[in-house]
Amino acid sequence: MTSWFRRLRETFAPPPRIGDADWDDLVARSALFGRLAASERGALRALCERFLASKTFSAAGGHELVAADCLAIAALACLPVLHLGFDHLSGWREVVVYPGEFRVRREHHDERSGVVTEGDDDLIGEAWERGPVILSWADVATDLEHPFDGFNVVVHEIAHKLDALDGAMNGTPRLPAAIPRREWIDTMQGAWDAFVREVDRGRETLIDPYAAESPDEYFAVLSELHFSDPATLVRAEPAVAGLLARFYGGSADATSVAAVRSDR
Ligand SMILES: [Zn+2]
Repeated sequence: MTSWFRRLRETFAPPPRIGDADWDDLVARSALFGRLAASERGALRALCERFLASKTFSAAGGHELVAADCLAIAALACLPVLHLGFDHLSGWREVVVYPGEFRVRREHHDERSGVVTEGDDDLIGEAWERGPVILSWADVATDLEHPFDGFNVVVHEIAHKLDALDGAMNGTPRLPAAIPRREWIDTMQGAWDAFVREVDRGRETLIDPYAAESPDEYFAVLSELHFSDPATLVRAEPAVAGLLARFYGGSADATSVAAVRSDR
C-alpha cells in the first residue's frame, strides 16, 4: 500500500500527490489514458489527486482493494469530467468495490398494474442519487483491458451521478451554457423514443437494448459509447453523438462552470 492511499483515509490529510511511477503504471495499464493528449493527461492527474483526497474507497464482499486499483477507478471516474470540471463530481463521496457482480434486493412498482414485486438483481455497478458509487472490480478490470469495446461501468455510473447533480435522475444532467436545455431534451427524447420503438419491435440495434429502460439509462449507456466506441455511437445516433461530444468535449463553453444554466 503506497503512502498516498494510506493518507487519503485520514480525515484532514492534504491532497495526496500521485507519484510518477504510480502514474506511469496507470497510463501503461489502459489505452484509454495512453491515447489522451499530454495536456489532458496532466489535467486528469490533477483531477485524480482531488478525487483520491475527497472520496473514500471501501472494499466489500471480501474484496482486497489495492492502491493502484483505487487510482484506476479515480482515473475512470474523472475522465467524464475532464472538461466539465471537478465540481461535477460533488454531492457524494463513497466508492464501494466488490470483487465481482453483487446482489441487491429491489422493489419494483409497476405504474400501470399497481403491483409491487420484489426480487434479487445481480449488478456490476450502481449509483445512488445521493449515496455511493458501487462497482464490480472484475468489470472495471475488463474495461481497463478492453477500453474500446463499447462498455465502461465506471463511466456509466458517473453519468448517473452527473445526471443526478441537478436534483433529478432523468437523463438531463446539469448542462453547460452552450447547450440549451430545450435542445438537449428534444434531441435525447426524440432519439430515445425512436430507439424504444426499435427495441419493442425486436429489431437488432447497435446500442445495448438496456438503454431502452429509461431516459437516464439511455444517457448512461450512450455516455459509455462516447468514451469507449464513439464510431458506433456516431453511426447509431449521430445527433446524440454530437450532443455528447459538446457535453463532454473540450470546448471553452463546456468548461465554463460558472455559466451553467439553472432552469430548476
Ligand atoms: Zn444505469
